[in-house]
Order: sequence, then structure tokens, then C-alpha cells
Amino acid sequence: MLEITSEPPIVKINTDWFASLPVTIYMKRDDLLHPFVSGNKWRKLKYVLQDAQLNKKTHLVSFGGAYSNHLVALSNAGKSFGFQTTAFVRGEFVENHMLNYCKNFGMHLIFVSREAYRNKTDLYNTYFAEDSSTYFIDEGGKGALAAKGCEHILMDVDEFSHVFCAVGTGTTLAGMARATKNKNMVAEGICVLKGASDIDQEVDSLAGFPIKIHHTFHRGGYAKIDDELIAFMRAFYSHTGIMLDQVYTAKMVLGVLELAQSGYFQHDSKLLLIHTGGVLGNTAI
Ligand SMILES: *Cc1c(COP(=O)(O)O)cnc(C)c1O
Repeated sequence: MLEITSEPPIVKINTDWFASLPVTIYMKRDDLLHPFVSGNKWRKLKYVLQDAQLNKKTHLVSFGGAYSNHLVALSNAGKSFGFQTTAFVRGEFVENHMLNYCKNFGMHLIFVSREAYRNKTDLYNTYFAEDSSTYFIDEGGKGALAAKGCEHILMDVDEFSHVFCAVGTGTTLAGMARATKNKNMVAEGICVLKGASDIDQEVDSLAGFPIKIHHTFHRGGYAKIDDELIAFMRAFYSHTGIMLDQVYTAKMVLGVLELAQSGYFQHDSKLLLIHTGGVLGNTAI
């Protein structure tokens, strides 16, 4: 289930932006893992689905916003591996291409108010407390099993001074950080949520030691876009042939660029940026 036969490639990023800076930049193309179970969502779901299967659960229940990469991934993986899927979607009823993917992959959607959405356990229990076939998967698939899956992102990777990824829940970063433990490499994150410093503690405890998360590169907040961001994505694509996503990876790359420009890295630092996918959610490019 969600096994990987060959790891996605690591490619060197040769662009003018980084050319004059004391760093070399590489990108791991986890976005190429699967068209719908994109990037880190594949890593995060692997052990979660295994656990559901071990526990003889047949119905996966999770949570997300109306453009959730996690829900598209879950609906597709659920269908591939024979699970029924249901999602609580934050906010009033809407239609968009991401939710259409979910529906087409057989996911049942339940729209709930932002207020009700806040307490996931209550929501789950209201609908499914009596149903022993259901399996609770937290928002964004976050948690220890998901972090364990993300350790694999850095399997056989050790020649870098730093690895960076975008941070939503921080589960991906925590898993990667665990994988750097016996290597001479630091994992750091660029948070795409505004005012989310409370996740630091969660990530530290998942990782087992303190992790650096940068909180100043969210560009106004989660899913907020601006002209400069979109122009950067276009230019990055035309220079490298790699499409970034507007919610996570574009902000991560721009954040790392700003750090490099501000003298954050020592000379000859070798940086690995993880492309965690999400391109399917792009609406502005
Ligand atoms: C979900 C997602 C993330 C965030 O991962 P977390 O483990 O929640 O921090 C990053 N990048 C992309 C493209 C995503 O879809």
C-alpha cells in the first residue's frame, strides 16, 4: 500500500536568483510521486492507511478546507485501496475543482460551519460514534504515523547542510527532522500560516527535539496570494521547468531565497528544498 518503487529525483536549481548567493540549491521532486496523492500526502498517508487496514476499518473520515490537498489525496488513495471516504469540509457549501476531484473519487462531503469545524472529535462523534467501521484521520492527516511516513523523504539523503519544507501542520517537517538525527544536516520549515507559533511545540514534540520554523514568510496568511508571488512562480517555471504551488511551495522557496539574501546561511551551504506537491490546487497560474 503506497509503496514507492523508486524515489523521486533530486535536481539542481540553477537560477539567477540564487546565483550570487553563497548557497547551492537542490530540489527533491516529491511532487512527481502521484498526480492526486501529491507529494507529502503520499508519505503522510502510508502508515495511516496501513493502520486502518490492520484495525479492520473500511471507512476513512477526515477534515479539510475547500481546497484541501489532503482531501483530494485521501479520496484517491481511499478509492485505490478499497476504503469508503467521508470528509467534513470547513464552511458553507461550495463547488470547485478540488472538491470535484474528491466527489469523483467517491468521497462523501459534509459541509460544516467554521464553528462546528473547530472541534473535530465532537464532529466525528456526532456522526460516527456508533459506527465501528470508521477511522478518524485528523485535519491534514497530521500525527505520529504521518510523521513516520515523512521520515522516508530523506532516506538515503545525507549530503546537504540544510533541508527545507513548507509547514502547514508541521507533521512533514517533524518527520524529516527525525530522519536528520544521525546526519550532519538540519531540517527547517517555512510556515505558510499567519500567527501559528503555537505549532512549534507540537512539531518539537513530534520530532523529539527543537526544530526551527520560520514564521515571517506567509505573505499575509494561509492561501493568500499576491502579484509578486504569482510572478515568481511563473519565472521559476520558465527557468527550471518546475511548477510550484501557490499555497505552500512557492512561499517556501521565496522564504529560503530571502533567508539566503539576508546572510542566514554560511558560505557553501548546500540546501535541499522539498517540493511537497500541491500543484493541482493552483488557481492563479
Ligand atoms: C499539506 C501540504 C503541506 C503541509 O504539510 P504539513 O505536514 O501539514 O506541514 C506542504 N506542502 C504541500 C504542497 C501540501 O499539500
